[in-house]
Amino acid sequence: MKVAGINSSVSYIAPVKKPVFNGIFGAPNLSERFRYGIEALDNNSLLVVTSNPERADMTLEQYSNKIVTPILKKYTLKVEESDLKNKEEIDSDFAIFKQDKKYFALVLGSGIFSSLMIKRPKDELKSKEHLFKTGAIVELHDGVELGTGEMLWREEPKLLFKPPYKFNTSNAEKYLQVRTINNIADFNRRSIASLSAKNLSKADKKGFTFADVGGLDDVIEQLRKYVVRPVNYPQVFENIRLNKGIMLYGPPRCGKTLLGKALANEVGAKYNEYNANEFKSSHVGASESAIRDMFKKAAANAPSITFIDEFDSIGKTRDGSSNARFDDPMVNQFLGCMSDLEKSKVPAFIIAATNMIKLIDPALLASGRFGLHLEVPMPNLEGLKQIFSIHSKNQPIQSDVSVENLIQKMFAGKFNGSDVAEMISDAYFNALERLGMFAKMDAKKFSYDDLKSISISFADFEKAIGRILKQKL
Ligand code: ATP
Repeated sequence: MKVAGINSSVSYIAPVKKPVFNGIFGAPNLSERFRYGIEALDNNSLLVVTSNPERADMTLEQYSNKIVTPILKKYTLKVEESDLKNKEEIDSDFAIFKQDKKYFALVLGSGIFSSLMIKRPKDELKSKEHLFKTGAIVELHDGVELGTGEMLWREEPKLLFKPPYKFNTSNAEKYLQVRTINNIADFNRRSIASLSAKNLSKADKKGFTFADVGGLDDVIEQLRKYVVRPVNYPQVFENIRLNKGIMLYGPPRCGKTLLGKALANEVGAKYNEYNANEFKSSHVGASESAIRDMFKKAAANAPSITFIDEFDSIGKTRDGSSNARFDDPMVNQFLGCMSDLEKSKVPAFIIAATNMIKLIDPALLASGRFGLHLEVPMPNLEGLKQIFSIHSKNQPIQSDVSVENLIQKMFAGKFNGSDVAEMISDAYFNALERLGMFAKMDAKKFSYDDLKSISISFADFEKAIGRILKQKL
């Protein structure tokens, strides 16, 4: 069976949320916490011992390719000042991982006292022989003492490595900081670098572009015309009044927010997102002041894209009924700020989004305010095909899957863009279940090699479509 779309080593699928559990630090002593960390290690986790987690993460990123097992969970044992007698003793950065039944340490510190030092029980301590440099990987044997020069030199405290440890995550999770990858799609990311906060923000920055938006070519062309080119070639548009207010309207979950983010990335602009309900306040003048602040920020950050979701709630009272414009201070504030912005040369664009354009006060939709109205409709057959191809890019889809057939089913089921994305992830989960991967994971027997045997079948997709249709009823 041929598997389409799988990349044999690293493939990035979706950004994931990584919950951080901060543990109940400080209860047992350092050696005990170390033992809990080692106990918790399976073939897919890592224990970092450090006095400075950010620094350790950064070094980890550089040397992460040395660890060839996919890391799904990271425990951090933070060595606190209170753990040690002497402040200088704290520099001890290393990461322990397990491969099959063997344990290894990846050295993360550098310099005499921060290099990892390993001492066997009967060894005499002759400093240089026991030091390992940054990036080195050292196999750990029963009974070795680990630490930095200082930690070992003074004998106490030292970390004693003494397997076999019984597998028990619960102790570790109580006393150590834990980061978990909770999205199965992330299995495809082999590198531990993905666990570090630094890497996450890089991924966020890269963000979406127009290539990530399917089936909305006409809208994208309008955005290129009215925003991208004017921002990139300001001289050409110097004497033209630009549309700084754009209204995106259409049914939910078809890509309005996605377009806003993609537009910001396309023009290298700062992006800020608001929900119009945020501006509502019962305090006199607070709503108007919040709106003015938003406009000030947009101008100060220029070039900028400000995205306001659920814009129809502006101009409505909090009980949902419509208010006449002349006595609605929020509408008036928007009108005033938009008109100032249009007159200025500042490349700040305000994108309002709504599912119900009819509820919006016509004054706000006039030219010079939110004068450019772009419909973001439900995807048609071609749109569904494009959205499917965007979201299935890195998925291991069996080559005999009839995409045409799936598209027809989605079209008949009135799928929006978000349904398509969800259907693909759900199909992946179905494949994992069908192939017994969940059972392997629960038994801690899942390994990187298993990734190669994962492929999504037509039946996996059909099952996913069925579930989504049922939920839509
Ligand atoms: P709402 O009106 O409920 O705020 P929205 O129109 O802003 O919804 P988005 O938040 O942009 O919808 O879409 C939700 C998710 O669905 C996107 O992050 C993306 O994963 C997927 N999606 C929706 N439309 C598209 C599309 N046209 N192309 C690619 N992905 C899409």
